[in-house]
Amino acid sequence: MRLFAPAKVNLALHVTGRRDDGYHLLDSVVVFAGVGDWLTLAPSDALSLTVTGPRAAGVPADRRNLIWRAAELFAPGHGAAITLEKHLPHAGGIGGGSADAAAALRGLSELWRAAMPDDAAVLSLGADVPVCAAGRPMRMSGIGELLAPLPPLPPLWLVLVNAGVEVPTRAVFSTLERRDNPPLPDLPAEGWPDAAGFAGWLCSARNDLEPPARALVPAISEVLDRLNTQPGCLLARMSGSGGTCFGLFAEEGAAKAAAEELTGDKPDWWVAAAPVLA
Ligand code: ATP
Repeated sequence: MRLFAPAKVNLALHVTGRRDDGYHLLDSVVVFAGVGDWLTLAPSDALSLTVTGPRAAGVPADRRNLIWRAAELFAPGHGAAITLEKHLPHAGGIGGGSADAAAALRGLSELWRAAMPDDAAVLSLGADVPVCAAGRPMRMSGIGELLAPLPPLPPLWLVLVNAGVEVPTRAVFSTLERRDNPPLPDLPAEGWPDAAGFAGWLCSARNDLEPPARALVPAISEVLDRLNTQPGCLLARMSGSGGTCFGLFAEEGAAKAAAEELTGDKPDWWVAAAPVLA
């Protein structure tokens, strides 16, 4: 069984509060891109995990891997040989681990003919795992547990760029100036006429983690500047707690040309052009 674990992209991410237990309250526009990791599951007596692929370096293949922890949410006694082909930069704000965990939950539930773990168990794997399990464009709020489908989106393309500089998530949250920021602007129930209309709406939203991340990691500003100057880029912003940034495009051709140009200029950067999945 081969499963796709698409990159999760926060097109907007507002931090609207903090609960007494320390969890941040979020209000986020989340979409998935046609680039991601691949999982292969095969029947086996015992549970095993092998990590391969171009971005395997630094990804744990033991209990620390979210795939392993997803498997442990099912009743004990099952086995599976799991291979994770890693294509997404890890710890990059595009939810690689969460996407892998969500794909593993889906695949293992089918392989083992077992019910999916309950919502609280899925959320215990991480704030982004429920939205990755939903796998389609969503407004995500609360601490990641409240999901509502977005109005229909026009066709959109993304250019994802990661400069390879690690962004310390904890430091980003602790440098945040305010935690009680306003929520997302109202979403039009009927959706948006086209990519430009959507980008216009998105301009009035933010990623509240972007200013602290830029202050901590100047390379993010360089990535955003480069994306912003690409022909056809409607908006450039950081995803999650960084450091991956996205450029939003209406056209496949412009997105692919931008990705090619950036790859040529910056061979050390991870760059991918991909459609937003409906
Ligand atoms: P988010 O966007 O949800 O904040 P992220 O993209 O910043 O997530 P991940 O790619 O999920 O972060 O990786 C965060 C850490 O989780 C990594 O440093 C790695 O040690 C660990 N990890 C556990 N499982 C995985 C996995 N399957 N793939 C990548 N990293 C994993």
